[in-house]
Amino acid sequence: MRRHNLAAVLDRLHIRGPLSRSQLARQTGLNRSTIGDLIGELVSLGMVEEDRGTTSNGPGRPSSVARTTPAGAVVVAADIEVDTMAVATIGLGGYMFDHVRIPRPDGQQSPEETAAELGALARPMLTALPAGHTVAGAGVAVAGVVRRSDGFLHVAPNLGWRDTPLGPMIASELGIDRVMLANEADVGALAEFRRGVARGRRNLIYVAGEVGVGIGIIYDGKPMLGTSGYAGEAGHTLINPAGRQCRCGAIGCWETEVGEEALARSVGLPSDASRSGLVSEVMSRAHSGDQATFGGLDQLGHWLGLGIGNLINVFNPDQVVIGGFYRPLYPFLEASMLRGVGEVALDAAWDTCDLRRSGLGDDAILVGAAELVLSEVIGDPTGYNTPALAVSLDTGRDTPADAAAS
Ligand SMILES: [Zn+2]
Repeated sequence: MRRHNLAAVLDRLHIRGPLSRSQLARQTGLNRSTIGDLIGELVSLGMVEEDRGTTSNGPGRPSSVARTTPAGAVVVAADIEVDTMAVATIGLGGYMFDHVRIPRPDGQQSPEETAAELGALARPMLTALPAGHTVAGAGVAVAGVVRRSDGFLHVAPNLGWRDTPLGPMIASELGIDRVMLANEADVGALAEFRRGVARGRRNLIYVAGEVGVGIGIIYDGKPMLGTSGYAGEAGHTLINPAGRQCRCGAIGCWETEVGEEALARSVGLPSDASRSGLVSEVMSRAHSGDQATFGGLDQLGHWLGLGIGNLINVFNPDQVVIGGFYRPLYPFLEASMLRGVGEVALDAAWDTCDLRRSGLGDDAILVGAAELVLSEVIGDPTGYNTPALAVSLDTGRDTPADAAAS
């Protein structure tokens, strides 16, 4: 019970920012003296600090304001994509101490070289952290199929990797035991659910345009990973039986119509351009009013919507969030995408579903990678190095007591 209450207080400060004792009492349904005890324990753990008597809401005694101490739990967050790699140090409250993104020019680096480069980027960031900091672990997102329990990467087709203990490799480069490796789309879903536009939702589908198309699923407030961690390979579901051969061998997979190659093809650009180069070229053509580009994006948006309509029928989500390279292109895709969804989705499911563009920007995946570890720390602040039981974390919903007070 005490662990649950510690988690509830720390999580609210982590997600919502500084809060007074009375706000925390209202939001958690706990009384003020319990809140005071819990804050005291979090202060002694180095995770929270408190300014005494700094605010006053009208009459009555001024209330102390508690806030997270970012250095109290710092995560090395990394995002390994085909053409770039980003590394950051992110602390409690989502505070980003340091951040770098580098190109991976030919996309041909081995897992060993990539782990070594990740280590080389992270080490100076760790050295620069404030005195007294605690490194809680590393969270790594990769565009591949991974087993979370031990950081084993089964296959990452677009990186050319297969059957590699990537998590342990990174752990030994960083000298950090706790390395959590996860699929990029699953990490994107977690980022939106914890800190993005999907806060407060229970059933979320995150759809990201990458080289292929990946989805991350949050089902009833928890990541849905499947029996072996392979759930979400929606890019390889059939959308066009009369379509093209996919690199997986099948005909007409969703990603043959909405992946990066399809984007290049639909606007008449070479498919071997780097993703950022491709997307910025498409953007500049669209902004200059190029009709052929509008036509291509209209077609891609329609295929995107048809696939999303299928997902809405299967999962009945309360929100679908659109990220990856679809995010900058969203204004040009939206109308045809909504038309496609409307053609497929059953009214009953579509009526209760909200479709949004990711609001977290280029660093969404880093934010989610940090949350992989920080969620565990927050779930059990005194003992997060031992396996934690599931604790219900703040997802933006207030307790009945809070709702009644506001
Ligand atoms: Zn396929």
